[in-house]
Amino acid sequence: MQEIIIIGGGLAGAEASWQILKRGGKVRLYEMKPERFSPAHRSEKLAELVCSNSLKSKSPENASGLLKQEMKLFGSLVMESAEKFAVPAGEALAVDREPFSGYITDQLLAEPGLELIREEVTAIPAQGIVIIATGPLSSEGMAKEIERITGSDRLYFYDAIAPVIYAESINMTVAFRQSRYDKGGADYLNCPMSREEYERFYQELIQADLVPLREFEMPKFFEGCLPIEEMARRGKETLCYGPMKPKGLSDPRTRAEPFAAVQLRQEDLSAELYGMVGFQTRLKYPEQERIFRLIPGLEQAEFARLGSMHRNTYLHSPGLLNPDLSLKTDPRIFFAGQISGVEGYLESASCGIAAGIYAWFRSQGREPPMIPKESVIGALVNYVSFPRETGFVPINANWGIFPELIPRVKKQDKKKLLAERALVATGEYLAKLSAGR
Ligand SMILES: Cc1cc2nc3c(=O)[nH]c(=O)nc-3n(C[C@H](O)[C@H](O)[C@H](O)COP(=O)(O)OP(=O)(O)OC[C@H]3O[C@@H](n4cnc5c(N)ncnc54)[C@H](O)[C@@H]3O)c2cc1C
Repeated sequence: MQEIIIIGGGLAGAEASWQILKRGGKVRLYEMKPERFSPAHRSEKLAELVCSNSLKSKSPENASGLLKQEMKLFGSLVMESAEKFAVPAGEALAVDREPFSGYITDQLLAEPGLELIREEVTAIPAQGIVIIATGPLSSEGMAKEIERITGSDRLYFYDAIAPVIYAESINMTVAFRQSRYDKGGADYLNCPMSREEYERFYQELIQADLVPLREFEMPKFFEGCLPIEEMARRGKETLCYGPMKPKGLSDPRTRAEPFAAVQLRQEDLSAELYGMVGFQTRLKYPEQERIFRLIPGLEQAEFARLGSMHRNTYLHSPGLLNPDLSLKTDPRIFFAGQISGVEGYLESASCGIAAGIYAWFRSQGREPPMIPKESVIGALVNYVSFPRETGFVPINANWGIFPELIPRVKKQDKKKLLAERALVATGEYLAKLSAGR
C-alpha cells in the first residue's frame, strides 16, 4: 500500500492523517516540534492551538456552527476532542487546549498505520503523494521550498486584511456605483462623506484601540499596504489622498464630488460580499464595527470578516491548485490548512479533512468525488482553488462563499436554508464515499 507523506502535524495535518488512517491507509507524518518551534508554537503535541482557545460559534445561525456540524459528519478528530475537552464559553465552543491537543496526539499515535517523524522537512520528497500542511508559520526552509515549486510571487508572508461586508447590509440609497472618472465601468460601490462626517470618522479612527503585535510581528508594513489608522496618523487629510480619495466621483444625491469616499469592491462571483478597498487595519474588532458603521451607507453593515494584519504564510492558491487541492503542475502534491489560503483553526482542520480524502483516493489510483460546494467545507475548498481575476484574501467560514440559493429566498430564511442544503449535500456525499463511488 502506498504511504502518504504529510508535512506538518498541526490542525490540518492531524485531520488529514486521521481521514487516511480511518480508511486503512498509511501515513508518514513529519512534525518539526520539538526539534524546532515556530515563534508561536509552544507545545510538543500535535494540533496545537497557538492563540485563542476558542473554536468560535456553535450556533447553527453562524457558518462556523454549520462547519462544526459538517466536520462531525466527516468523523473529525478535532471536533471529537473539542467536545470532550470543551470549557464553558456561552455560544462559542472553547477548549482546554492541553488535553485537547494531547487527545488528538494520542489517538493518532494509537493508529498502527501512522509513523510520526519529529523532524523539519526542507525538501519536498521527489516521489510519492505528499500533503503540505506546514501552516501560517511554516519554517523558513519549507517556505523557500514552496516558493521553488510554486514561484516566489505566489507565496505571501503577511496578511493585510481589509474588512469584508455582506452586500445585503449596505444601504444602497446612500452608496452608489461608479469607478473614479468612470474608468473601467461602474464596478465599485462608493460611500460618500461630507466634511463633517469625515472629521467625526477621522477623530474616532486615530483614537481607536489597536490589537497589540507580538514580537515576531513587529510592523514591517509595506508603504503600499499601510493600515488605515497608520495612514490617518500621518495627517488629517492623508486618507483623502489615499484610499478615501473622492476625485472623479459624483454623488447622485448632490451631483457633486463628496469630501471623501470609501470604495467597496466585489469579492465573490455571486456579489454577496464587498471588500473595503485599502482598509487593512489593526483596530480591535469591536472598534472596527463601531467606527466603520459611522461611514454613510454602512450604518447597518454586517461584516463577513473584519480587518487584521498579522504574520501569515499562505499561497495565492487560485489558479495554482486543482479543485482537489493538488498542485496543477505536480498533482501528487497537495496543500492543506492555512497555507492553502483558508483562515482559522477549524477552517484549517476541515481543509485537512478534504486533502486527506483526496490524497487517499489518489493513492488508490482513483479520482475522488468532490465535496459539494453547497457545504461549508466544499465552499472553502472551492474558494481557495477557483481561478479569479480579482484579489485573493484568506477567508474563514461565512455565508457569502456558498452558491446562490435558487430560487432566491427572503433574507430571514436564507441562513436556515443554506444550512439545510449544506447538511443534505454533506450527507449525500458521505453516502457516496462509503458506497465506494
Ligand atoms: C500567531 C497566530 C495566531 C492565530 N490565532 C488564531 C486564533 O486565535 N483563532 C483561529 O481560529 N485561528 C488563529 N490563527 C490562524 C490559524 O487558524 C492557525 O494558525 C491554525 O493553527 C492553522 O492550522 P494549520 O494546520 O494550517 O497550521 P498549524 O496548526 O500551524 O500547523 C503547522 C504545523 O507544521 C509544523 N511545521 C512547520 N514547518 C514545518 C517543516 N518545515 N517541517 C515539519 N513541520 C513543520 C509546525 O510546527 C506546526 O505544528 C492564528 C495564526 C497565527 C499565526
